[in-house]
Amino acid sequence: MPKVRTKLVTWEEVHDWAFRLARLIEDSGWRPDAVVAVARGGYVPARLVCDVLDIHDLLSVQVLHWGRAAEITAKAHVKYPVPVKLEGKKVLIIDDICDTGDSLIVARKHLEEAAAPAEIRTGVMQWISSVAKIKPDYYVEEVKDWVWYQYPWCRVEDTTNFLEKIVAETGRHEWRFDELVETFKEWYGIDVGERVFRAAIEKLAARGVLKVGDL
Ligand code: ADP
Repeated sequence: MPKVRTKLVTWEEVHDWAFRLARLIEDSGWRPDAVVAVARGGYVPARLVCDVLDIHDLLSVQVLHWGRAAEITAKAHVKYPVPVKLEGKKVLIIDDICDTGDSLIVARKHLEEAAAPAEIRTGVMQWISSVAKIKPDYYVEEVKDWVWYQYPWCRVEDTTNFLEKIVAETGRHEWRFDELVETFKEWYGIDVGERVFRAAIEKLAARGVLKVGDL
């Protein structure tokens, strides 16, 4: 059994979810004038939804919350605000996943105060209903058992963080490449591919976190 429940998400799945999210919005009879992506996880889904719905006004707000993969390190707060007024507009906030819900709550409150749009709705690909403080207006999948979605746009970043956790928890800093990869697969139950493993390991080696003899 893996130590952290993790799902490896493919680009095809992202495309499919974004299409389905766009259809849900369309079928509800509501058409946003602008989309606000919650950076950074909301970027790709927001861009794809804009593509399907033919929306050209795409902005973003950066909310920081999670630090290392699968670990909450700080309170959600706005790092980069929306710098314009959106008075009279219907705005759709898009994020990849609603886990605790904090980022969406903070993004929504910020938008209300800073941009004053006529209406705000929220949309995500995944909604973890067992832990989320809010229910997004639109979601593609309701997830009941918490799992870390390893989205394809942050493969190297998540892998780096997951490997760092292995080093920290085992207290072992020197590894053989195959051995480290096998341990990763056991702990997380996913295979991110050799190129991603190498990129992540090189980063950690450069930072002096670990040493892999046969890299
Ligand atoms: P929300 O933005 O919907 O309020 P959170 O504040 O819980 O969600 O999480 C902020 C960001 O952290 C998410 O947009 C996502 O990029 C990342 N994240 C959180 N939980 C998960 C998870 N279970 N799997 C993958 N990524 C996650």
